[in-house]
Amino acid sequence: MKERGVVLGAGISGVGAALLAKKQGMDVFVSDASTIDTATKKLLDQYQIDWEETQHSIDKMQNVQWVVKSPGIPSNAPILSNFREQNCPILSEIEFAAKFTDALIIGITGSNGKTTTAMLTYHLLKKAGLNVGLGGNVGYSFAQQVAEEQFEVYVLEISSFQLDDIHTFQPHIAVITNITPDHLDRYNYDFQQYIAAKLKITKNQTSKNMLLFNADDAVLKEALFAHQTAAKIHAFGFTSEMPKPYTTHQEDALHIIHENDQKMIPTNAFSLQGRHNLLNAMAAATVADLFKVSKESIRQSLATFKGVPHRLEPVLTIQNVRYINDSKATNVNATYYALECMDAPTVWIVGGVDKGNDYSALLPLVHEKIKAIICLGVDNQKLFEAFQPIVEIMVETTSVTEAVKIARKIAEKKDNVLLSPACASFDLFKNYEDRGNQFKAAVRNL
Ligand code: ADP
Repeated sequence: MKERGVVLGAGISGVGAALLAKKQGMDVFVSDASTIDTATKKLLDQYQIDWEETQHSIDKMQNVQWVVKSPGIPSNAPILSNFREQNCPILSEIEFAAKFTDALIIGITGSNGKTTTAMLTYHLLKKAGLNVGLGGNVGYSFAQQVAEEQFEVYVLEISSFQLDDIHTFQPHIAVITNITPDHLDRYNYDFQQYIAAKLKITKNQTSKNMLLFNADDAVLKEALFAHQTAAKIHAFGFTSEMPKPYTTHQEDALHIIHENDQKMIPTNAFSLQGRHNLLNAMAAATVADLFKVSKESIRQSLATFKGVPHRLEPVLTIQNVRYINDSKATNVNATYYALECMDAPTVWIVGGVDKGNDYSALLPLVHEKIKAIICLGVDNQKLFEAFQPIVEIMVETTSVTEAVKIARKIAEKKDNVLLSPACASFDLFKNYEDRGNQFKAAVRNL
């Protein structure tokens, strides 16, 4: 009898898992509670994979050996009880795909900086000539690549939702960029549960594996101490309190320090701004160094990295005012680093769906750098409460075009206009990309 599995959710990861299952000669059924887009249906048909949309037919999901659950489906979704009753393992796409490849896996997780660190790591390895793939949360399915490509190394961006369904996944190198409160709605508003989910990345690692972690992050440090790990650890950060091996940044250079060896890689040509991106560079360069990429290659590739849209993305300079799109800053910590980077008086566009934000960490930076706040959201009460006492000009609007026009009126030569919302986008936009794209279009139309 052929092995039979179900894929719940026909997104990028679900479809990838279905294609891989088919390639492995298994029977697979794809079921999505919403509608499936036409191109995906065509692809599934082409591979002769059965699918259904707008429903989950329990009768078609009996006697299965595994189920791959899309990260978007919460672990308490009613449909999952069908599989629990059958004692059928519920897997993430990452876990499923990892079973079918011998490639070396670099798994990158954290609250902020996953995409940037994953793309930068990929760039450093690729430019050095490694046969490397990029997958996970960055928009390319890991499973589909395992089905269709022959990569020897994978850089995977892994969200905590993907880690929820990890049982045996064992990255050769794991990276944790930081842990700050986010998505707590998925973890019963319990920060400890969210921390535990992030640490699952190292759960199956052994002493043959490496864990890179941000030693500047006190929460992460404490959590690692409490949860323990069998992996060899390599710290990175600006702090001076790190045991060897570690990676730090001083005087315009990364320093990768091993027990008996150290390397210095100048960062004066690094294409990204901000302390947070230097942390991302520390992590990415350390991975590259573990793969024996040369210092010179790392230095050059740090300079040629293009950056990722919607992350402190320069849009235009109009009448000597710089417009910056940081729409992906959907929590306070990401916005903290954006404000920290501002080297001139700044008009700050902020707001959206507040996920339980505590704005107090931003107050000193706002006091120092922000000349006006434009709230772009449906409910701006918390922003007014937090910042009205320290910022002279505070206005609100629900139109991005209007926000940009107001910003232009307020900003003077050499000022910045920064969209860094610290909030989710769903009150006024489809997602953060839609918000960032509308912002960029409004700036270009000024
Ligand atoms: P993620 O994939 O974890 O959401 P991104 O690289 O997409 O991370 O960045 C999300 C937001 O966080 C952006 O606003 C970006 O400028 C900011 N950011 C990037 N790296 C870090 C970091 N190491 N610490 C804090 N914020 C960061």
